[in-house]
Amino acid sequence: MAATRERPSSLVPRGDAPRAVSDDRARLLALHESLDACRVCPNMIGPVVHGGPVFSPVYLLGQAPGPREGSFGRPFAWTAGRTLFRWFESVLGKDESAVRERVYFAAVARCFPGKAKGGGDRKPDPDEIRACSKFVAGELEILRPRLLLPVGGLAISQVLGKEQKLAAVVGQTFRATFHGLACDVIPLPHPSGASTWHQTEPGKTLLAAALRLVASHEAVKEAFR
Ligand code: SF4
Repeated sequence: MAATRERPSSLVPRGDAPRAVSDDRARLLALHESLDACRVCPNMIGPVVHGGPVFSPVYLLGQAPGPREGSFGRPFAWTAGRTLFRWFESVLGKDESAVRERVYFAAVARCFPGKAKGGGDRKPDPDEIRACSKFVAGELEILRPRLLLPVGGLAISQVLGKEQKLAAVVGQTFRATFHGLACDVIPLPHPSGASTWHQTEPGKTLLAAALRLVASHEAVKEAFR
């Protein structure tokens, strides 16, 4: 297991030297600036969407924003978000704004990919995933989270390194190395209404198990204390 540095859990991290804190904050804000300016993927639809500069030991990785998130300027701002935040509230007792203040929200791709031919949102293609991965790598390097929460099949496959059936991974904690960072991983299903997996068995039971793992993880306890 690779050694991990202790990182701060809030916008004003505890325990770090003031100089290091301001350096990391400046680096994260600079990364957000280059993210906001990014137009490298010709088939992606802007604007770029990302969460706030939250220094947290918990890093949530979604797939990509949907069509509504751009106008709200934050990830998980529409129906899937309502479900996701309801899941967290059920085990953490914290509402959406508290979760957004304490968890770093990222995604495999930060622009809306458009609609797929068969309906639903198009998945980011390999070139887009590769192009956007530099932002994920940069965030992980700055934040050094101890817990990753990949949400949905695409994010889970990116973090665990191969495609997995949800039933084979949801409800468990993994140890993985992602962009050079060794950390715990608790996969979650996508909360989209387009997916019924989490509403039927075995998804309901496995989701409940995964949420209990999230609530009892030491990084989550630190983030919310
Ligand atoms: S998806 Fe990522 S890499 Fe592609 S244009 Fe948007 S921010 Fe840039």
